[in-house]
Amino acid sequence: MYVGESPRLDRPTKTYAPRALLEQLGIRIVTTWLRDTWGLWLPDRRTVVIAENLNPVQERCTLAHEVEHVLADDSGCGTSTDTTQASRIRVERLADREAARKLIGISDLALVAKRGLDMRETAAELDVTERLLAVRLDDLKGEAWPATLKIAG
Ligand SMILES: [Zn+2]
Repeated sequence: MYVGESPRLDRPTKTYAPRALLEQLGIRIVTTWLRDTWGLWLPDRRTVVIAENLNPVQERCTLAHEVEHVLADDSGCGTSTDTTQASRIRVERLADREAARKLIGISDLALVAKRGLDMRETAAELDVTERLLAVRLDDLKGEAWPATLKIAG
């Protein structure tokens, strides 16, 4: 059990480790300078490329997104040329949604939501980017989550 400041989470979702999962799957992870994307999945090379200088939260969220491309056997991430634009957008949204589901447990979200934090604070508490938190909340739309967070800010 986590021992520390009592309001902090017990951290069950922190057990989701996308880097370890990629390594188990035999996927190489390369960190390099990237201009306009956080991560790439290169299936021909069985390699995930992530941008250098990401903070740990950004890196974990990026790796979690790339894991979903790997598991779905997608033809790439932001690199596919053999699919339509609409299809690429759908594939990216699916990867985001599945990543957000694995990174943000319902019970953790519920616990943090009770504290009346805003999006930035909630994301920080859950160790995810605000963008992936927004994806998770959108996924749960209609389940009363947004009402419990100060989404409008
Ligand atoms: Zn992607």
